Amino acid sequence: MSHKSDIEIAREAKKRPIQEIAEKLDMTFDDIIPYGHDKAKVSQDFINSVQDRKDGKLILVTAINPTPAGEGKTTTTVGLGDGLNAIGKKAAICIREASLGPNFGMKGGAAGGGYAQVVPMEDMNLHFTGDFHAITSAHNLLSAMIDNHIYWGNELAIDERRVSWRRVVDLNDRALRDVVTSLGGVANGFPRQTGFDITVASEVMAILCLSKDLADLQERLGDIIVAYTRERKAITCRDIGADGAMTVLLKDAMQPNLVQTLENNPAFVHGGPFANIAHGCNSLIATKTALKLADYVVTEAGFGADLGAEKFMNIKCRKGGLAPSVVVCVATIRAMKMNGGVAKADLGAENVDAVKAGCPNLGRHIENLKSFGVPVVVAINHFVTDTDAEVQAVKDYVEGHGSEAILCKHWANGSAGTKDLATRVAEIADADMGSFGPLYNDEMPLFEKIETVAKRIYRADEVLADKKIRDQLKAWEEAGYGDLPVCMAKTQYSFSTDPNLRGAPTGHSVPIREVRLSAGAGFVVVICGEIMTMPGLPSKPAALTIGLDEAGDVQGLF
Ligand code: ADP
Ligand code: MG
Repeated sequence: MSHKSDIEIAREAKKRPIQEIAEKLDMTFDDIIPYGHDKAKVSQDFINSVQDRKDGKLILVTAINPTPAGEGKTTTTVGLGDGLNAIGKKAAICIREASLGPNFGMKGGAAGGGYAQVVPMEDMNLHFTGDFHAITSAHNLLSAMIDNHIYWGNELAIDERRVSWRRVVDLNDRALRDVVTSLGGVANGFPRQTGFDITVASEVMAILCLSKDLADLQERLGDIIVAYTRERKAITCRDIGADGAMTVLLKDAMQPNLVQTLENNPAFVHGGPFANIAHGCNSLIATKTALKLADYVVTEAGFGADLGAEKFMNIKCRKGGLAPSVVVCVATIRAMKMNGGVAKADLGAENVDAVKAGCPNLGRHIENLKSFGVPVVVAINHFVTDTDAEVQAVKDYVEGHGSEAILCKHWANGSAGTKDLATRVAEIADADMGSFGPLYNDEMPLFEKIETVAKRIYRADEVLADKKIRDQLKAWEEAGYGDLPVCMAKTQYSFSTDPNLRGAPTGHSVPIREVRLSAGAGFVVVICGEIMTMPGLPSKPAALTIGLDEAGDVQGLF
């Protein structure tokens, strides 16, 4: 059993040249665009050429309501992908790219952990292939063009107080949350109040992740609403004329990135939208491309299944015409205990009763996931502190709920730790047992869509929204946006909107604070609670201890 850190394990990886990884998916050197020796993009021409191929099976990895540390969804996605390859299947994984900013705040990467990781992990957590820089540039080009349009006479009659398009940077910088631009006199334009979000919160990110191809990307960029006139007429990115130039800036970023796992299996790492104000999964183009190239594609949705899987199904699958064959719900003993009321400091000690008390949280996620018409398998992501009795308690509970739980030791043992899970998942996927369908149809009124998610997934009694919010939803329906799905933004720690209400609460209500239209991405964001779109740094940020050692290796990042 290993006690090495993630980065120590990653540095010992025996990486293969990226063209060898591409060959595993029958891609030649011409089909990829190498970024150095261990990263590549899959060329758009090649992607276009495989569109007639049959799709592989899609496997979604999601989780119960997590503890603050995360439950190992990415680790399990990587472990299951390696496990499928180890039992002789042609499998690939698809995960998100990491935002750069948070790495300088608190430690924690996005490339998995232990012996189930994607490499090169330092690159993945830093500049990688530059996609997020491209998104930042495209976003801010639009910002600059809006202010420039106002400066040169404001032909569109934009109300400077109603410019909704902000600016972005991929750093945690609370000083930029609210700013005044164009100070300094006539030559600098009209002062107005605005602010910055972190790049992963940009609508451009969500659009890149939901676009089918470059034409669709440009269309959706054009649809972004950037401001309103005094008469409340919406002004779009297309009105500003920025959609073409933004598409040019994004043309390379639209191509999925190919890297490898520690066991030299293909991993697509592409796109990284927020999981609250956006849908929180990797790009549609990466998933669709992987499905053309592999027989099994394992992918992850952010947060717990009440948020991540719900949005994966109702937003990504709906828009992309995808249908998962099986869902893997990750559970950890420590998260079961936390849902059973144990404090974080006491998670190390055996407590079978607390595990049992937390199980209804898992049970509800299983029921919810099944309501999408897909079979569910529970993966118990094993931690060294877990005891046999605790693991057995979860297995028994899950069996009692008509599902099955499989113990996985990929963090310690790589693919050897997920062979059972991989075998079972492949069997279920091959049996075509699912009959996937989203939770609501496009025609349902927006407020009813919100109620459907709140009642069927969160098991709330009611949705609370004042007249202003209901009128806003009606106005969008009249303006032609009524067929969009809803994107819920709430705490990931509870089924309810109260992060402290763990387990499987009922009888609660879901208050809506605000609704926002992401007309380009194509969803209505429903904000329930405080949502931060520009994080700050902690009092002692990780950046204080990050540096290069004598060998030129990064220290302090993980
Ligand atoms: P998620 O994707 O659910 O946010 P990750 O897979 O990124 O979670 O894992 C979060 C952290 O937990 C990582 O630092 C990872 O190394 C660690 N981790 C995951 N599984 C285990 C395990 N079985 N034992 C110990 N640490 C683990
Ligand atoms: Mg993750």
